[in-house]
Amino acid sequence: LTKPRADGSARVVAIANQKGGVGKTTTAINLATALAACEKRVLIVDIDAQGNASTGLGIDRKNRAHSSYDLLFGREKADVATIDTTIPNLRIIPASIHLSGAEIELVEEDRREFRLRDALQSCLGDYDYILIDCPPALGLLTLNALCAADSVLVPLQCEFYALEGLSHLMRTIERVKRAFNPRLDIQGVVLTMYDRRNNLSDMVAADVRAHLGDKVYETVIPRNVRVSEAPSFGKPVILYDMECRGSQAYIHLASEVLKRERRAVA
Ligand code: ADP
Ligand code: MG
Repeated sequence: LTKPRADGSARVVAIANQKGGVGKTTTAINLATALAACEKRVLIVDIDAQGNASTGLGIDRKNRAHSSYDLLFGREKADVATIDTTIPNLRIIPASIHLSGAEIELVEEDRREFRLRDALQSCLGDYDYILIDCPPALGLLTLNALCAADSVLVPLQCEFYALEGLSHLMRTIERVKRAFNPRLDIQGVVLTMYDRRNNLSDMVAADVRAHLGDKVYETVIPRNVRVSEAPSFGKPVILYDMECRGSQAYIHLASEVLKRERRAVA
């Protein structure tokens, strides 16, 4: 399922879903933190103009002199744009507000689908995982992430329209695979904001599993108020309150990601 690269360089995972508010950024931050705690070297690339991954990791706006925007337009090398977080083994290329114009500006560029892939080449050897936090759209920014990635991880909110959006995303992934990036794989689908008091959550979860089988992680991320509080403290929920159910779920997700990878190698 999740083949590592033969040369031992970073596995690049795009965290994508064209819907906003489904848990992409939360998953990027917390999966990255949990993987880093397992002594994996992790880089987050924030390509959403909102910059929520950057803010959620406590990166001050004044420390974002270089950003993924500079990378996309060939103005800066990946290592120069990369900054440390307070978490050992976890680094980030932050977003900048300029990304809000990038969808249009990219149209004019050469190799407009491959800007991110080209820019990340130089740092693949420095990491075990590179997680790209995508914006809530299937435009050129997300396309750049899908072209740079080995696989896509899809956070899916347990709600009525989830499956509809998912089939559109799956078709897009197939198209990208055919046209630009044949090695692109589905890393997995993770159900987020699961509410055990809500029957709909169970129905959606069962439906998604019936459609996608073992592409869906066993780990389900519960709706948990601690998860939504953490970003305002500039911390992953795993550091904010490690005992809460949300943190435990993300730690479990990381171990499931690692376990699948070991199984793929064996
Ligand atoms: P996206 O990046 O897909 O737009 P976010 O990760 O930013 O989504 O999540 C959207 C909002 O929902 C944020 O305010 C976040 O704190 C909150 N949130 C995400 N996951 C959970 C959860 N498991 N429980 C409660 N709130 C959550
Ligand atoms: Mg986000």
